Amino acid sequence: MAKKKIVVLGAGYGGLRVIKGLQKKHLDAEIVLVNKNSYHYEATYLHEVAAGTHDSDKICFDLKQVVNEKKVTFIQDTVEKINKDSKTVSLQKGNDLSYDYLVVALGFESESFNIPGVEENSLCLVDIPTATAARKHLEAQLANYATSKDVNDLSIAVCGAGFTSIEYLGELTNLLPKLAKKYGFPLEQVKITCIEAMDKLLPMFPEKLSNYAIDKLKTRGVTFCVGTPIKEIKSGAVVYQKGEQLEEVAANTIIWTTGVKGSSVIEGSGFDARRGRVMVNEDLTVPSNEEIFMIGDVSAVMNKENNRPYPTTAQIALKQADTVVVNLEAKLNNKATQAFSFTSAGTVCSIGDNEAIAEVGGKHFKGYLASVMKKGVADKSLLQVGSANVLLKKGRFDFYH
Ligand code: FAD
Ligand code: NAD
Repeated sequence: MAKKKIVVLGAGYGGLRVIKGLQKKHLDAEIVLVNKNSYHYEATYLHEVAAGTHDSDKICFDLKQVVNEKKVTFIQDTVEKINKDSKTVSLQKGNDLSYDYLVVALGFESESFNIPGVEENSLCLVDIPTATAARKHLEAQLANYATSKDVNDLSIAVCGAGFTSIEYLGELTNLLPKLAKKYGFPLEQVKITCIEAMDKLLPMFPEKLSNYAIDKLKTRGVTFCVGTPIKEIKSGAVVYQKGEQLEEVAANTIIWTTGVKGSSVIEGSGFDARRGRVMVNEDLTVPSNEEIFMIGDVSAVMNKENNRPYPTTAQIALKQADTVVVNLEAKLNNKATQAFSFTSAGTVCSIGDNEAIAEVGGKHFKGYLASVMKKGVADKSLLQVGSANVLLKKGRFDFYH
């Protein structure tokens, strides 16, 4: 009998962790990995690349360091569509790829909510090219001020005040004094505005912790507009609603961080999804297509405690990957699959390199200690998707000094 073929789409946290798990097993199956790039990137550090704290090299490693070519066939290509009926995947360059079992881990894209002007006039941070473009744009505006003397070159608007926004603002405000020296602009003229639709900032943390983070950012020059949903992005201005009025903030750098959706391949392939996320079965398979597993940001898993899907995080993608490996083995051996279960290890939000707020095991931390926790979590993830060698080269060890 021909070997069964397992195809994994995406080499982010979820997909690469599945590949690592499958490589350790001695399964009688052919394994194929498809990913757009030849490298893995730590999406959890994209804000650092976008602000300019690190070059993209710091958060990327070559897939060859992890993918064992004796066990896995790697195809560098872009997935265009999953054809559930024919059990094939259409690729941008190559021929259609057939599968017996499919693991979809294609991750996230920026969510514009169809707000006019977002695509044309703002910068998102969802992968290496977009984060790099955001950094180049910001530095070009700051450098331009020397000749233009246009105050809007020194005005930065950050849309949304979720985790990505706050972490980006943390890096940006840490770096600005250095950038002011490099490009010769007056630091006191820089205007940073963060515009959030909800009335409360960082509501997932107790008020004492969220106030700590927000006060830090305010001290470093950030102005928060809250309860002010954005209605349009113009070239050089953010339009938001304040009460009954529409108001504008002018800025030549506009960063779009109002949330994410799952890969557009999901809806384009006709899966029943909400914002690109499929509500999966308990064993992480897709209802009515139990040969397909969905994990990470393209999946939604219900948190029974509050009857809402868990937020999309690397933490959950990694945990799901381990369940998928067990369940693929079970399916190959005609055994029963396991239900996925998840207990959050906690939440950490950085506000620059050496500051963070954290909630871990019901305990609260802030400042340097919380930032050490954040780096510890990232180093653990590098081991989970990479190797000891990758960790040594790319890990965050500055807190050990
Ligand atoms: P991803 O990690 O996004 O990987 C998807 C992979 O698929 C990528 O390699 C991509 O190149 C590839 N791909 C995409 N489309 C295609 C295609 N069409 N064809 C082929 N390949 C494709 N979570 C945490 O738990 N902790 C944090 O501290 C944290 N910080 C974050 C900070 C930022 C700035 C952001 C943006 C997110 C953060 N998150 C954090 C969320 C976390 O990054 C995501 O939940 C996580 O990356 C999802 O993992 P994934 O495997 O689903 O997808
Ligand atoms: P998010 O959904 O967490 O936050 C987006 C914010 O934008 C929200 O506060 C929302 O109210 C606001 N918003 C939405 N539409 C708006 C509008 N029209 N006008 C003004 N504000 C608007 O999204 P994110 O920060 O991009 O994070 C994406 C995912 O990644 C989340 O699941 C998050 O948990 C995860 N993440 C985690 C970490 C961490 O654990 N440290 C860091 C970054 C991201």
